Amino acid sequence: MKTFKEYLKENKEELAQMITDFIETAIQNNDKENEARYKDIYLKKIGKPYEAEKEFSPKPSIDKIYSQNDFKRYQDYIKYCDKLYILKFKKYGKLAKGTLKTITSNELKAKCSEFGVNVIFAKVKGTEEASVQTQNQMTWDIKYLKKPIPVEIWIHEMGHIFEYMMKGISSYSPLFLHNMKTSEYDLKPLEIFAESFKNYIVNPKYLKAGWPEVYDFFKKNVPTKWIKTMTNLI
Ligand SMILES: [Zn+2]
Repeated sequence: MKTFKEYLKENKEELAQMITDFIETAIQNNDKENEARYKDIYLKKIGKPYEAEKEFSPKPSIDKIYSQNDFKRYQDYIKYCDKLYILKFKKYGKLAKGTLKTITSNELKAKCSEFGVNVIFAKVKGTEEASVQTQNQMTWDIKYLKKPIPVEIWIHEMGHIFEYMMKGISSYSPLFLHNMKTSEYDLKPLEIFAESFKNYIVNPKYLKAGWPEVYDFFKKNVPTKWIKTMTNLI
């Protein structure tokens, strides 16, 4: 990590990029004071006023998928992913049937123990229903001791467990990053992986149509026992 001073000595282009990052961060944080301050620094050091990078927003198309590297600004990429997801959902959404099936907390414990996973019920922070801590531990909100547990959420959590088990590939691999967004959920790589896993079990036709490489990855790697146990519940 370079200090601000070290950067000042380097070439203008790099310096302009760095000050731009500060300005954009300030704008994102609605921090008017720093926005004005860094714009002023920009003018003094670069010799011209700061101009916002033009938004890059290619028309989403299934025939030409852009990757994160094609975008200078992360927020443009996120917007593109959202639009691409809507496009894919319009085209393939009818294949996403889902399931409303539920299981009890005791059934959940029994199913998890088949996979060597210990279940804890505890108060969880925020809106999270359940989370995975290690390959062998899953925590569920305490309300689920007495409430039916949606099978879809359980399968999503098992997607996190499955990622722990996979060697050599992770949710941060290009396979998943280039397929940003497989559901209405957020774009964090870990969640894309788990949602894709859930879709592989619950909505395989949907995943296969919209995200064929991701479908093939799971087809190649998910053990038959996993598929059998989970599909029996949906
Ligand atoms: Zn998750």
